[in-house]
Amino acid sequence: MELNLTPLNLTDQDNKRPIVIAGPCSAETEEQVMNTATQLSKKGVKLFRAGIWKPRTKPGGFEGVGEPGLAWLQQVQKETGMKVCTEVATHAHVEACLKAGVDLLWIGARTVANPFAMQEIADTLKGVDIPILVKNPVNPDLELWIGGLERINQAGITRLGVIHRGFSTYEKKLYRNLPMWHIPIELRRRCPGLPIFGDPSHIGGKRELVAPLCQQAMDLGFDGLIVESHCNPDAAWSDASQQVTPDVLDFILDKLVIRKITETTESLSALRHQIDEIDNSLIELMAKRMRISREIGEYKRQHDMTVVQTTRYTEILDKRGAQGVLCGMSSDFIKDVFESIHEESVRQQIEIMNQ
Ligand code: PEP
Ligand code: MN
Repeated sequence: MELNLTPLNLTDQDNKRPIVIAGPCSAETEEQVMNTATQLSKKGVKLFRAGIWKPRTKPGGFEGVGEPGLAWLQQVQKETGMKVCTEVATHAHVEACLKAGVDLLWIGARTVANPFAMQEIADTLKGVDIPILVKNPVNPDLELWIGGLERINQAGITRLGVIHRGFSTYEKKLYRNLPMWHIPIELRRRCPGLPIFGDPSHIGGKRELVAPLCQQAMDLGFDGLIVESHCNPDAAWSDASQQVTPDVLDFILDKLVIRKITETTESLSALRHQIDEIDNSLIELMAKRMRISREIGEYKRQHDMTVVQTTRYTEILDKRGAQGVLCGMSSDFIKDVFESIHEESVRQQIEIMNQ
């Protein structure tokens, strides 16, 4: 199904910067909201974010201040002139936001993964004209993401955009949520004209990753950024490690290189990101292989076995060579690769033997 889209019309854009939505992960107190908003507004930010209801993995964490926080967002509108936005997950959230005059709503990753919740939100939005940003679902499922967009669009919302916040993985690695850039890129191909916002805070999970992830989003031709910014990040009640001060955010945005996106550089950049991602996976897989290898080394040590068993080694080289040929690579190349891997594996097992 093709989406029926109209421009988001969020702010008057100066073309030097992407559309930026910034603000704390959560609204905590009136003072924290106003302090952060005032600083951001002075830096030229026009769209303020703050979570009022926070989906938490486990009970007992800070679940947001709830409805009373909406009054603080109204105060931000009044005192700074910024537009305000927050996350909604239920019928009641949407109703409360519409009543309070919130300018823009986003739907969080956990909610987008649930078609019942998406339909409930869509039903509540029927006949309402408000821009909606749909985050990617927590799991890397493009169809689920598009399905959520279709539900909201079918309710009559045409000012629609998405937020790319990365995808959950079992093992936590460099990123809090893996970017898997090919997914938003494929979404762009499937739904041209749909504005994409990068969320470096939730992808990276760490302050030092915010700047490079902002730049990567720009290199891919994303339309905007949503970045968590807090007047006192270390004291934040949620997501403290990934929030930056308004000053740091301003510095990051100033340093961004906005390239003229031509079709070729955009797709070249997209391809390079895919290569980076694959190389990361290769390294992670090799590390996993080495860990298992060390366990085998431990077993061999306990059972007084030798490190290299030539029959097993020959079998590996032959099998992998044949598999490589089936996948369009030369068997010599695959043998070279596996010889190197084997060499490192033996080195690691010898280390274990000598412990
Ligand atoms: C958020 O934006 O604070 C948030 C909860 O994000 P996500 O749904 O991406 O986890
Ligand atoms: Mn957050």
